[in-house]
Order: sequence, then structure tokens, then C-alpha cells
Amino acid sequence: MTGLVIVGHGTRSAAGVDQFAALVDRVRRRGDVGDVEGGFIELSRPPLTDAVGALVARGHRALVALPLVLTAAGHGKGDIPAAMAREQERHPGLSYRYGRPLGPHPLLHEALEERIDAALAGADRAGTALAGAVQADTVDRAGTWVALIGRGSTDPDANAEVAKVARLLWEGRGYAGVEPGFVSLASPSVPAVLERLRRLGAQRIVVAPYFLFAGVLPDRIVAQSAEFAAAHPDLDVRVAEVIGDCDALADLVRERYAEALGGDIRMNCDTCAYRVLMPGFADKVGRPQRPHDHPDDPVGHHHHHGHDHGHAHDHGSVAVVGGGPGPDDLITVRGKALLDAADVVVVDRLAPQGLLAGLRPDVLVVDAAKVPRGPSMAQEAINAALVSHARAGRRVVRLKGGDPYVFGRGHEEVQACTAAGVPVTVVPGVSSAIAAPALAGVPVTHRGVAHDVTVVSGHLPPGHPDSLVDWAALARARGTVVLLMAVDTIAKIASVLIEHGRAPETPVLAVQDAGQADQRSVPARLDEIGAVATREDIRPPAVFVLGPVVALSTTGPTV
Ligand code: SAH
Repeated sequence: MTGLVIVGHGTRSAAGVDQFAALVDRVRRRGDVGDVEGGFIELSRPPLTDAVGALVARGHRALVALPLVLTAAGHGKGDIPAAMAREQERHPGLSYRYGRPLGPHPLLHEALEERIDAALAGADRAGTALAGAVQADTVDRAGTWVALIGRGSTDPDANAEVAKVARLLWEGRGYAGVEPGFVSLASPSVPAVLERLRRLGAQRIVVAPYFLFAGVLPDRIVAQSAEFAAAHPDLDVRVAEVIGDCDALADLVRERYAEALGGDIRMNCDTCAYRVLMPGFADKVGRPQRPHDHPDDPVGHHHHHGHDHGHAHDHGSVAVVGGGPGPDDLITVRGKALLDAADVVVVDRLAPQGLLAGLRPDVLVVDAAKVPRGPSMAQEAINAALVSHARAGRRVVRLKGGDPYVFGRGHEEVQACTAAGVPVTVVPGVSSAIAAPALAGVPVTHRGVAHDVTVVSGHLPPGHPDSLVDWAALARARGTVVLLMAVDTIAKIASVLIEHGRAPETPVLAVQDAGQADQRSVPARLDEIGAVATREDIRPPAVFVLGPVVALSTTGPTV
């Protein structure tokens, strides 16, 4: 069974550490989620690295990593994935599925309700209520207001979630009302919420910390509530316990574990400040997640091997990457970095196949030529595959030969992603139109020889009703013409060019399999290239370059 590592942030509170350890133990004792360890990314022991190390030592190579956080903010989106990336560097071949943050979830709402009832029954932390004054089952909920206090974050999405939980906690439970507040970084503060409730006429308030475990911030909630209560002796203010180690939390951990194994885990992406422009948060859009620096950790100290570029959290995206004309080292640095970070690679036949050997073993490689459905549907099926993998939260690289926008249909894929609301980027590549002549020693322009170069598709022969090429104009032009996809049509093209004015002796070079070990080039005059290409058995992929620059070739013989 897949191992589970429960990841906590860490706290200076010994009670908080104990509660975390008790929960890990509770999950372990139940025995229904395989092998379990828990660790912290900072401040507390055991550190995450010990927890992962223990699981690896017991033979696990694939884990579920569950961030024990209520909402997805900086820790869940950035710090914990970064810490896991370090563990992957430490243990090559280790893969993990990342679980969803815990809340909001009905199990948590029920746990909060129990803590509120307990506070009403007298188990109060603020020390102002008369102990045992009210019995839980006779509690007058209609006369009780709840202040639900979250941690508070610079991430509006996380704060909004506390407001949502406040609403869900109120629904159907009969409290006078539930108001959200925050103990740090966001407003309203604890005293501000309490003052608001006082002005609304509240006489009894339960302050419910929306926290998993004890810690510095829950203690601050108690202190601030006690201070407010002392200043308002006419009010009954009580503070409920944190959620803590309990069966409901263990149930939820099991649910998140099962969900992570089942796939398709997503954070709430619709209102993520790293993705959507929100007033006052423009600087966050597209910003990479940077892990905390841990200067004492030798792993990931000076560099992060690209693990932190793009989004560290689970937003799917598509990069349409030009792979260059064939050799592994003619892809761009940017294209290679995206490829290294990809979860899924959808690859064309003409893309550099050698690069696939370097992918992590868990990367899904999809051969675009084998995408199911009929040939006319192929492009649509590819578009659909890109969109669906990205929507499942995966980083998708669409790896193409040459440049994606030179007869590569790259823009159709970009349009499909954009239409589906999937973030998409294009990485230009070295096009065979320029590179194949260059690799055969022919510059497509040269001072004093050719001041223009035209790249033309030979896919449709001259005269074809769908052709968009003005062959007569190309015949009149003096510069370089590079023909792609023209192996079957070269004879027809050459004769039309001559017919409209190109000199029959214009030099042409056919370059086949440019950049590959079996690259070859075959020269001919324009009026002979059709026959020569047939005789020499020129096969795709090949380009034909014609014009005066061909005579400059440094390697191949010239006519
Ligand atoms: N986007 C690609 C072109 C795709 S069309 C690019 O920018 O290079 C496919 C055509 O590209 C082939 O028919 C052939 O004409 C040309 N081609 C691609 N790779 C080639 C190679 N290694 N050697 C020669 N021609 C190549």
C-alpha cells in the first residue's frame, strides 16, 4: 500500500507538536492507510526528511504527501512542495502525489460544533464564564454568537475560505450568527469581531479558533478574547478548544489520502492570487513559489534544479515547445527546463526523440501520432488531450519539431487551450527551414547574394484549389526559397518556378534528415531536381533550398 507522509508546518508550542504526533499515531493505529509517518518542515521535530527517510528505508518509492493545513496558502502552495522537492533530490526516483488541504469539510464543521458546545458547557479557555453554568443539551444556540477565528493570510483565497467556513458552520445549526475574523495578517482582528458582535447585541459569544492544533496563534486568540472580556464584564465570552487530535481529523486524513491516490487533486484555482488578477494583488499573478531558504540543508542549498520555476502548486498548464530540428542539444534552454519539469509530454514524430530518454520515469509520454480516433480528428484529439491533462493539474509539454509556429499547427493548440481557459505558453524553436540548410553548409541569406528568404509549404502542389502560395511571385523573386513538405511535389514546383521566370540553372540543395547521423544532401539544378530527387530516393523529412546562396555551400558539392 502506498506510504503516507503527513506534513506539518511546525510550531513553537510543545502541546501543538504532541497533538500532531497523537494524530499521526491515531491514523497509524487504524491501519487503513498503509505505512504512515509525520514530519515538520521547520521548527519542530521530527523533521520531514526523517519521516520520508523512514518510509524510503522501508522500501517506499511512491508516497502520498498530505499537507496538514486547513487552507491552501503559502505553506500548502509553496513551502511544503519545496520541502518535498528537496526530499526527491535526496532520494532519486522518489515520486509523490500531493494531497489537498483539509478544509472546508463537513467533518471539520462537526468537530468545530463539538468544541463550541463544550465551551458552552463550561469547558472554557478564556476563564470568564461560570463553569458548568450551561448544559450543552440545553444550550440556547439562538442566543449564542460565534466568532470563527482563522490564522489570517496575505492570500485572499485562504481568508475567503474562513468566511466560507463561518457560513457553513452557521447553516442549519441555529446559532445567532457566525462571524469570521483573523488573528494575524488579515482583518477583522479578534477584538474587532468581538466589538462588532457586541454592537449587534450579542450577550454570549463563543470564540472558535479555526486551527488544527495548539500553537502561538491560538494562544494569542485566548489572550485577546480574555482582554476583551475583561473590558466588557457584562458579556459572556468563551473560547473553544482547537480541533486537535480526534477521530474526525483522522477520518479526513484517510479521505484526502484516498483522494490523492485516485488522482485529479486540485486546489481552488478559480480565485488563486497566483493565477487571477485580484485588486491589490497584481504582483502575485504568475509569480513563482519560492521555498524558504534552509541554509543548513545541503540539499537544494544553492540551487533548486528548476523545481521552483513556474508554479509549485497544482495548477495545470501547457507549454507548446519547439524542440529544434532533431539533435537533443538544439532545443532552447527554456524548452529543456519546461521539459524537465513536465508531468506529461505529448510528442510529435519529428520532435527530438532523444530527449525522451532523459525524462523522469513517472512522466507520461503521449505519442501524438498514436492519439486515437481517425486521421481527420487527430488534431482535435491532441487538443483535447492537452486540455484534459492540464485540467487535471498536470504540467503538460507539447513537444514539436523545429519551431511550433512554422507549419507546426502550434497556434491551433494554443487557441484550444486559451478557449478552454488553460494557461498556455509558447517556446520558439530552431526551425528546420533555417537549420537544415545551415547544417548542410548553406546560409539562407548572405550579404550581397540574397536579401530575402521565403519559407514555403510544398504540401499542396501548384494549381491545387486550396493552395495559398503565389508561385509566380516566388519565381520572379531573386532570393532564397526554402521548401518544406515538398518531397512529393518538388518536380511540379520546379517546373512552375521555371515557367514563371526562375533560371533553370538555379542551384538547389535537398537536405534530408538534417542534424541526424544519416543526414545527407543532394544538389541539382532547378530543372533537374525533380528527377534527381526521385533517382536519389530523397525521403521526408527533407527541405529543398534554392537560390544563389546554395552556390556558397561550404560542405556539399555545388552545381
Ligand atoms: N515546425 C517544423 C516544420 C514542420 S513541417 C520546423 O519548424 O522545422 C515538417 C517538415 O519540416 C518536413 O516535411 C521537412 O520538410 C521539415 N523538416 C523537419 N525536420 C527536418 C529535418 N531534420 N531535416 C530536414 N527537414 C526537416
